[in-house]
Amino acid sequence: MGVGRYYVGCVHGCLYCYNYLFHWRRFGWRYRDWIRARPRCRTQSEVVKLVRRGFENFSPEERYRLYVSLCFDPYQPLEERYRYTRVVLETVLRETRWTIVLLTKAPRRALELDQDLYTRYRDRIWFGITLTHYRDDLCREVEPSAEPPTVRVEALKRAKELGLRTWVIVEPWIPYHLPTLVRGTVRRYLTTPVELLEKLPVRPDLLVLGKLNHVEDILKLLGIHSETKVRKLVEELTRHYRTYLPWTLKRLRELNYVLGENLFLTEELAELANVRVTYHNLFRN
Ligand code: SF4
Repeated sequence: MGVGRYYVGCVHGCLYCYNYLFHWRRFGWRYRDWIRARPRCRTQSEVVKLVRRGFENFSPEERYRLYVSLCFDPYQPLEERYRYTRVVLETVLRETRWTIVLLTKAPRRALELDQDLYTRYRDRIWFGITLTHYRDDLCREVEPSAEPPTVRVEALKRAKELGLRTWVIVEPWIPYHLPTLVRGTVRRYLTTPVELLEKLPVRPDLLVLGKLNHVEDILKLLGIHSETKVRKLVEELTRHYRTYLPWTLKRLRELNYVLGENLFLTEELAELANVRVTYHNLFRN
């Protein structure tokens, strides 16, 4: 389950952000509205109330998993001032037996702010980062205000050293560098996620791979309106995933990532490649 919306928007401004697309479709938000992130609660007590309201239908005694967050990055710069993510974590960890599954593109800030809490509750926290690029300069064009991948990877290593359980999600796996699609100088970028994972200095305890979704909307927002171009790219991407996924899984198996144990695919990717995966082991307590 996900935590409530105590922030709105996300300053990281990833070009493929599903949450931004949702706000664009539903409320007509522009990109600049989305990246002007702001708190939705006025005080920390309001955040506590929001979290407790979320408990109402779920027993605090069960071993549920709470994703922080599915709607924005919990450690975007706002967190330094408001500390609402801290309040959420403290409330849930103190008042329930749930596990927290953290996911951020600002893991250095996360550790600077909340390392004490993570280590105190290390058995109930999964510390996760998203990785889509390995070159800082290219990543900056796609995820402009997030921490660069080299910094994320260092933070992952640090989290491992602290004894936290760690996970990495490569979603979206983007074969083409998005800004080059707009410039018309299409540049193949990441053939398979293995290229990223081989560069990791530590092995995460869990790995998730996912494809690029909502391609039509993303391209439209990037200024590509030609239906032919969009259709061609969607077909190319589909072909790409179908071609490279079997090889990727084989290579990851050699690196001891086993499908259904410590390696998972998002449903969209699994479906595309006709791979059946059960999710009962994901973030097991
Ligand atoms: S960090 Fe996540 S929520 Fe924030 S802009 Fe990027 S994809 Fe969207």
